[in-house]
Amino acid sequence: MGQGKVDMARFDYLEARTLRQAISLGQRYGLRARFVAGSTDFLIRWRQGVWQPEYVINIQHISSLSRVSYNSRDGLRLGSLVTVQTLESHPIIRRRYPALSASAASFAGVQVRNLATVGGNVCNASPAGDTLPALLAFEASCRIAGPGGERWLPLDQFFTGPGQTALEPGEVLAELRLPPPLPDTGSLYIKHSPRGGMDIATLGVASVVSLQEQGSVFGDVKIALGAVAPTPIRAYTAEEMLRGRAITPELIGAAAAEAESRVTPIDDLRGSALHRKSMVRVLTQRTLERAVDMARKVPMPFELQRSLAVQAVF
Ligand SMILES: Cc1cc2nc3c(=O)[nH]c(=O)nc-3n(C[C@H](O)[C@H](O)[C@H](O)COP(=O)(O)OP(=O)(O)OC[C@H]3O[C@@H](n4cnc5c(N)ncnc54)[C@H](O)[C@@H]3O)c2cc1C
Repeated sequence: MGQGKVDMARFDYLEARTLRQAISLGQRYGLRARFVAGSTDFLIRWRQGVWQPEYVINIQHISSLSRVSYNSRDGLRLGSLVTVQTLESHPIIRRRYPALSASAASFAGVQVRNLATVGGNVCNASPAGDTLPALLAFEASCRIAGPGGERWLPLDQFFTGPGQTALEPGEVLAELRLPPPLPDTGSLYIKHSPRGGMDIATLGVASVVSLQEQGSVFGDVKIALGAVAPTPIRAYTAEEMLRGRAITPELIGAAAAEAESRVTPIDDLRGSALHRKSMVRVLTQRTLERAVDMARKVPMPFELQRSLAVQAVF
């Protein structure tokens, strides 16, 4: 191998047309195989020599995994192959789960968004994955299909470390399910990235807020943070400080400070740990304030949400 060159190992390419075929191929080849969907993460890792599977099982053409549906009892069902572009543009997602649409709007360029899947973003398990804080804040759960049958797992138990998940060999993430939002709910995701949406998040924060008492009191509140710990995380204690309390700027500020006190970010080329920590407070406060405005139906056109979704703040 010459200097700077990576030996790109060859692999056998297999295509599954049904979930059952995918599982059966996954079971046959186990750890020697890797599933691919949009392949946007896979191709980079393969070219770098980081992933060297003997078999690549393409699941992109399993049509049953590309569906989006919503009803007021079960909420949103997202097949794992739903693209990031669909998350951004789907009218139901924009209307009922705006933080998820905003996360997709902040994600790479349109070419990548057209290929990248929500299941791939979840299974890649990067602490900085853009859709992950919004999915966590909407309390998504995962339908996992494998050789032993199907099982459900809350998304906050799916991530086990950077790039690590609870999936067993041969298991496929089939679907994500998000409960229906409560009445008077607002939500927003903000990605902090000095180079804008074309870069991986230095930090990402999603808040989902429902209001009570004519919009004066916090009902349910969920806050999720990306790129500040080995996995994306919920800020549970900050959420608890807000539930059932009258909405004031001081209370929001105190909850944002609490969120900051719980994170354990690292230094890397995108930002120092100190910078990330202080930005947690700023963006938690900002997402909560905007989510309250949205829940109170203070008009905010989607294009403004979209521009809010990516912020380079120094
Ligand atoms: C130029 C560029 C820009 C990018 N920008 C961003 C960005 O702004 N934000 C961001 O979050 N990410 C970004 N990414 C990363 C990537 O696009 C996302 O993580 C994407 O969502 C991965 O989806 P995919 O379908 O392409 O996954 P793939 O590459 O096909 O797979 C990724 C991993 O998930 C596994 N996998 C995929 N689907 C399943 C499934 N259903 N069941 C089990 N395992 C599965 C694969 O085995 C593999 O390990 C970028 C990538 C590139 C190349």
